[in-house]
Amino acid sequence: MRESIKVVVTGGAGYIGSHTCLELLKEGYEVVVVDNLANSSSESIKRVQEIANKKIEFHQVDVRDREKLSAIFNEHKKGENKSSIKGVIHFAGLKAVGESVRIPLDYYSNNITGTLSLLEVMKSHGVKNLVFSSSATVYGEPKTLPIKEDFPLSVTNPYGRTKLMIEEILKDLHASDPSWNIALLRYFNPVGADRSGKIGEDPFGIPNNLFPYIAQVAVGRLPFLNIFGDDYHTKYNTKDGTGVRDFIHVSDLALGHIKALPKLFTNSGLVIYNLGTGKGSSVMELLRAFEAASGRKIPFKIAPRRAGDIAACYADPSKAQKELNWIATRTIEDMCRDTWNWQKNNPNGFKKGD
Ligand code: NAD
Ligand code: UDP
Repeated sequence: MRESIKVVVTGGAGYIGSHTCLELLKEGYEVVVVDNLANSSSESIKRVQEIANKKIEFHQVDVRDREKLSAIFNEHKKGENKSSIKGVIHFAGLKAVGESVRIPLDYYSNNITGTLSLLEVMKSHGVKNLVFSSSATVYGEPKTLPIKEDFPLSVTNPYGRTKLMIEEILKDLHASDPSWNIALLRYFNPVGADRSGKIGEDPFGIPNNLFPYIAQVAVGRLPFLNIFGDDYHTKYNTKDGTGVRDFIHVSDLALGHIKALPKLFTNSGLVIYNLGTGKGSSVMELLRAFEAASGRKIPFKIAPRRAGDIAACYADPSKAQKELNWIATRTIEDMCRDTWNWQKNNPNGFKKGD
């Protein structure tokens, strides 16, 4: 067995972070989570440990708190039995587009200041391997589909701007010191839950995103789904006219990180990958698939288009396939089944009293 490698996962209690922690533990990594629990619960960490039957070291710390962050890196330099930290997967940040328009300073502070703080601490401890959670939002409204990594970048809201700015900061950092190895992973639409049904997406309040919204309608927490527009008729849309997205199972996405890490350890420099399936599905197709998976009727109403939405978006994931040997294997049916399994076993998410 190879010597275990220690990684810090910021935002590891969150939706994508918790699923990635699980896959890291399964792969034999040692995991140190740093999360301020601003949008998550430590129950997710407990459950990941239960599923994997392995321990996670958890610190409830804000990544903007340089002293505390630095102390964690220091702690792992001490003692003969402790290996030092080899890399960081950086999920921590705020992610709601609408909220970012209302409270942009919180977004710039958490996402930009948080990342700068992390980078400075990493630099001072000589840890220069980083995986960063970027988003397909940096492509704006693409002229053609599928989207390749070298498409032009543009953003329309503060959340997207933080992702693009961080990408630029990381490019500057790498240009100034090529000993940094950085993977910018641009996620398409992560959905689904671990097959165990013990962890999943648990948004606070009314969900903004389609999948958790549908799941909460199916379980009876919300009365119906508003479908934002059925008049998107472009050559990339299905004939039902509802928006098209590249939904990717969160466990496939997590495995993308597992493939990106060893790439960094070979001194890859700065690399950029789309993590998507390459297939577009419409909102209506998803609703039907979710009805089939849950055996429940999902009432819906056609509502006006949501401001800022684009008609269709899906990835060309072939670069990640070629260079990381990674491919998303789970289907829309798997995504619906696993979301439903999580939602029906945990109708109130991680809160007690389910
Ligand atoms: P999430 O909110 O479930 O997870 C983010 C985690 O970061 C939370 O646990 C939160 O408590 C923590 N956090 C926030 N600010 C922090 C801070 N200052 N210090 C420490 N911890 C902090 O979100 P997620 O869906 O798991 O997303 C993870 C990352 O992936 C985010 O950076 C997000 O922007 C990015 N991303 C998400 C999606 C998506 O659709 N979910 C798509 C593209 C990119
Ligand atoms: N959507 C919808 N009703 C909702 C939430 C989303 O019809 O309650 C649609 C939205 O217009 C888009 C698709 O579902 O076409 C995916 O939206 P989501 O917010 O999940 O992801 P993103 O917009 O970031 O791609």
